[in-house]
Amino acid sequence: MIPIKSLHKKIEIRSLYQSVIWQITCYNLPYISVNIKIDSIKLNIEDRLLEQNNAWASRIKENDPDFFKQLSKGQNPNILWIGCSDSRVPPNQIAGLSQGDLFVHRNISNIIVHTDLNCLSVVQFAVEVLEVDHIIICGHYGCGGVKAAMEGRNNGLIDNWLQHIRDISRHRSHQLEGLTGEEKYRRLCELNVKEQVINMCNTAIVRKAWRNEANLTVHGLIYDLETGLLNKLDMVINGPEVLERKLQTIA
Ligand SMILES: [Zn+2]
Repeated sequence: MIPIKSLHKKIEIRSLYQSVIWQITCYNLPYISVNIKIDSIKLNIEDRLLEQNNAWASRIKENDPDFFKQLSKGQNPNILWIGCSDSRVPPNQIAGLSQGDLFVHRNISNIIVHTDLNCLSVVQFAVEVLEVDHIIICGHYGCGGVKAAMEGRNNGLIDNWLQHIRDISRHRSHQLEGLTGEEKYRRLCELNVKEQVINMCNTAIVRKAWRNEANLTVHGLIYDLETGLLNKLDMVINGPEVLERKLQTIA
């Protein structure tokens, strides 16, 4: 066995899952590099998330010791939020709201499709069981789904989903006329939100709620990644008459 003179600690961690390189100085050999699996020091994604979660929960309990106990009794959000899956648009954070304030559905480019049972189930639960007063459709500038739809490249399966956005640019081509580059991209992001607000208003669930005189308003907002700010799109619809008038103005 080669006697070890000294052991230098960790030199580098290349990534969470890769190896740690140790350098060992021996009597007869200057250095031996040994790769040790990172499992041995338990620096993995689960540990990191649990550590951060622990710190987060502790911070909340410091301010309000009963916060989680109260919240565990049930939810009573007043808003259904439909947003993009983009990691940079987390609903509660950008709206400055807490846990329990929003019922949320997210998909690529915040699209409402009348045959999407996943989305429709969320809407039905929010409207008929939670009895929310507001549905927010929130898009964002810089949306990757909208960009992919604009570029028209072959992306495989997801092209079926993005076709809903391509349909909007075809139906509303007159509203994109003369626009190019960034300006056209931003306008299509806005048009997509407006179209999804209309789609939401036309769901059997929202129509039924309005027939039953529920106090339900559908809104369209757009988030700007560069400023961190939400912007209105003049899409606030609280009944079939308002919807008809809006359809005339945005046609
Ligand atoms: Zn997006």
